[in-house]
Amino acid sequence: MYCIQVVVALPLWQRFDYRVSAAEYARLQPGMRVRVSFGRRLLVGMVVAKTPTSASPEPSLKPIEAILDTQPLLSPALLELARFAADYYKHPPGEVYLQALPVLLRQGAAAHSEPELRWHESALGRLHEPASLPKAPRQRAAWQALRDEPAGLSLQMAQVLGIELRDLRALAKRGYAETRSHQPLPPAMHGLADAALPANAEQALARDSVLADQGFQVSLLQGITGSGKTEVYLQIIERILERGQQALVLVPEISLTPQTLQRFRQRFLCPVLGLHSGLSDRERLHAWQQAAEGRAGIIIGTRSALFTPLPRLGLIIVDEEHDPSFKQGEGFRYHARDLAVVRARLENIPIVLGSATPSLESLHNVELGRYRLLHLRLRSNQLQLPRLHLLEMRGLNLYEGLAPSALQSLQEHLERGHQVLVFLNRRGYAPILLCHDCGWRMPCPRCSTSPVWHRRLGRVVCHHCGISQALPERCGACGSRDLRPLGIGTEKLQEALSLRFPDFPLWRIDRDSVRSPRELELRLQAIHRHQPGILLGTQMLAKGHHFAAVTLVLIVDIDAALFATDFRALERCAQLIIQVAGRAGRGNHAGEVILQTHHREHPLLQLLVEQGYESFAAALLSERAAMGLPPYSHQALLLAQGPQAQQAEDHLTALATHVPAHLAPYGVIAAPIERKAGLFRAHLLLQSASRPALQQALQTLVHACQEDKPARLRCWIDVDPQDLS
Ligand code: ADP
Ligand code: ZN
Ligand code: ZN
Repeated sequence: MYCIQVVVALPLWQRFDYRVSAAEYARLQPGMRVRVSFGRRLLVGMVVAKTPTSASPEPSLKPIEAILDTQPLLSPALLELARFAADYYKHPPGEVYLQALPVLLRQGAAAHSEPELRWHESALGRLHEPASLPKAPRQRAAWQALRDEPAGLSLQMAQVLGIELRDLRALAKRGYAETRSHQPLPPAMHGLADAALPANAEQALARDSVLADQGFQVSLLQGITGSGKTEVYLQIIERILERGQQALVLVPEISLTPQTLQRFRQRFLCPVLGLHSGLSDRERLHAWQQAAEGRAGIIIGTRSALFTPLPRLGLIIVDEEHDPSFKQGEGFRYHARDLAVVRARLENIPIVLGSATPSLESLHNVELGRYRLLHLRLRSNQLQLPRLHLLEMRGLNLYEGLAPSALQSLQEHLERGHQVLVFLNRRGYAPILLCHDCGWRMPCPRCSTSPVWHRRLGRVVCHHCGISQALPERCGACGSRDLRPLGIGTEKLQEALSLRFPDFPLWRIDRDSVRSPRELELRLQAIHRHQPGILLGTQMLAKGHHFAAVTLVLIVDIDAALFATDFRALERCAQLIIQVAGRAGRGNHAGEVILQTHHREHPLLQLLVEQGYESFAAALLSERAAMGLPPYSHQALLLAQGPQAQQAEDHLTALATHVPAHLAPYGVIAAPIERKAGLFRAHLLLQSASRPALQQALQTLVHACQEDKPARLRCWIDVDPQDLS
């Protein structure tokens, strides 16, 4: 008897055996979908293995209901990637395999694109004349249109011409028209629409090194902002396409940087697909088909694009590889950069990780000789990187968080006709509401954090759970009416800057003021008209944009990161500073960057400002090494959350007994955000210099953490956690 192993998209660890006939067995391959009955439901499952016999006694095995595909949807490399990922990230395998597919395919839709039907004049029609239908003017017009378009009319084309389907049908009934399936010509896969720029020596070296790779090799392309990394990607891809291969480009966020997609589309003749969250399910399926059928040359997408099937994949690029958004924060908590490296290894192809501010993990891999470092040290416009100044704030008389000399600089740059960029990574008007009489801070009713006052909304909004409340009139503790906003968000800074510089336009860019990609585009267009003005925003403004007229960047507040409990805070802060600073001086004028701080003496901050990211990162790495923190060790976080205060901690304490003590050096603790959306949260952080030892401990915990727990308590594992809040 024949049997196959199937996974389904449920939080279950098993692979399930189903019975198949000899003919089905011969047709089925791993990576194909089948419909199976599961309990009382019919589910879409994926075949992961074939076994000629099963250990289970025959009668108990259910047969499959249907085979949904004629070919595997996932290649052997992608199947292996999914298997590895489920195992490594300790996530139920069925969910991992099936999340690799577009939603419609998970629901059972047909995988292969239907050929388009087009209307043609029939042989009989050609023997007659449209004029022979004097009483049917609309059919006559339709007939004439078919005659004028020998390649046939799609319904869409017909619609444009004002021709209706029922007239085409009537013609078909008379025998004068017919439909035929239309096979589009394969698109041109190589050739340039726009010439490449002449590469400088560093760019040429980086490009040629990657192109010389035979098979798997990871390159870390470290290039200062504006050094032409994207140009290097484009030139490598040009050759990859010439070889008849496809390229996959992963980016942190595509809707925020429409320019990236534009640049690729301008350069190449081949179809360039953008995969992002803005697509409808239909569009996503269509894009997936284009990729899987080999009709797209380049795929650019955010982290989930990693699983796109590409039959001729020749190169993977991960741009801004340090960006935390490559790590999925919930559900299947994978890191798309790390899995991209695994995929490149499985496909035996080169991969390029690019950044101006590489993650310490990647720099460490260079140190270990696993990754090759490629450097771009020159800015392509020959200008120097902007100079960073630390501005000590202690004792100064501040205007809404801005130092007098910073205001002076803003004034000067604006008067010279330039643009200035003011960066503050905090949305809203004020992050804290404080009672001036008793010190009460308004709390979020559901979280252990303070909600943020959004003045225009007239609400106080929690940025952790999203709940919003009316602005209270009185202190919740003493009843005083003297509630005062404390701290500054972008909304307040907008007000302050507009008052101070009323003659200059101000464009604010953050999630509250820009709600759609379209709105962002309009705002960016206004900025690109180059009149003097102020750009104010959060990290939405920091990513990848090219602002040619910006000559001054003012970073309002970085002190929170200097003393944060999260050991990655300083790395993140430095990356953000360099990214934001990189927006200055990209045009014809050198740039200047001012960093406001109360801790000018901070040694790592000084290193960053005086010697740059490389020296800073090296110092931070030796600090991490001394403390045994990642990347010199590996971590996994067990997080429990439940409605009762002690439950989460108790559950983790019980789990901790399954783990050798040296793997859990910090013990069970309340999470830094102890209560979120009404749930109490606790952490058990595991850490080991040995990945295998850590993985082994996790193997035990995967099952233990779901056992003996109160019904409403949730517990999960986050491997290589990036967010320790
Ligand atoms: P990065 O991705 O490193 O920030 P980009 O590739 O966006 O850098 O390049 C920054 C700017 O320099 C762009 O306007 C780009 O067109 C230009 N540029 C890049 N390489 C060259 C080159 N070799 N010659 C001239 N201009 C270049
Ligand atoms: Zn009070
Ligand atoms: Zn909240």
